[in-house]
Amino acid sequence: MSAQRERYRTASGSERDKDASCANLILACAPELSLDPARYRSRFCNADCWRRWLNVSYDMNLVSSIANHAFDAALALVYPQVCAVCGRSVESRHDGVACARCWNEAPLFTGDETLCWKCGARSLAKVSYDRRETVRCGRCETDEFTAARSGGLYEGALRASILELKRQPHVARRVAHLMYDVLQREPLNQADMIIPVPLHHDRERERGFNQACILARELSRLSRLPVDEHSVIRRIHTERHRAGTDAKARRQSVANAFTVRHPKSIAGKRVLLIDDVFTTGATVSACAEVLKEAGAEGVFVLTVARV
Ligand SMILES: [Zn+2]
Ligand SMILES: [Zn+2]
Repeated sequence: MSAQRERYRTASGSERDKDASCANLILACAPELSLDPARYRSRFCNADCWRRWLNVSYDMNLVSSIANHAFDAALALVYPQVCAVCGRSVESRHDGVACARCWNEAPLFTGDETLCWKCGARSLAKVSYDRRETVRCGRCETDEFTAARSGGLYEGALRASILELKRQPHVARRVAHLMYDVLQREPLNQADMIIPVPLHHDRERERGFNQACILARELSRLSRLPVDEHSVIRRIHTERHRAGTDAKARRQSVANAFTVRHPKSIAGKRVLLIDDVFTTGATVSACAEVLKEAGAEGVFVLTVARV
């Protein structure tokens, strides 16, 4: 007679042998577990299985870290990526299209700068940390958003990364983490859902993707905030960087560009609008206006860079 095996009930209700079930679970969940093992603790049948997994997970992370370095080195040999800013070689694929040196020289916001609390424009004034909420640039009173922030200025590595994102639907890890850092600071950390600034559907079909959606999904993955890509649509396409367009003309052209299709999903929410660049603020302000009309409690804006 075979030894009595311990059995347990899975989340779906079926009974399984303890060990067999855990082994299945490990195989089935390996990619997710390696990202965030703590989330899955309750799905293991007992503490021993859990500890055994943690050891496997640790080894996998170590192997994956070594493999990443080896992969970067091999990639640089086989397919050398030239820095889009300075022309030197890019040694880590996490840096995207710019080299580590250009990233070090990039004008990124660290959180120590004094900014207009509303639109995020850099201020030359030095203001103590506890009075920063009172800083205003004087040019953004009529903007409809609650507060806007960016990863840095639209120059060098950030500019090159944004131009690349218009060509390829891929966010370099460096860019994603830069935006995630900003999202964790006041006041953007109050947001409870993410909405990418929509493209007009003709424009999206032409390009094949909306770069704001690609950024939004990446930020959602890091922050675990939900993304809503369907409640707001863009009815009118307006050219963003048309030469000779001043802020006022830009505002008029974009004024009725957006509409909310599902106000119920927006009502009472603190929305985080995502876009690649903040130029005059007219686009995100027009988008924020319809979100507020739909009942949004606040509209925060996060862009990779600002002009
Ligand atoms: Zn470079
Ligand atoms: Zn301002």
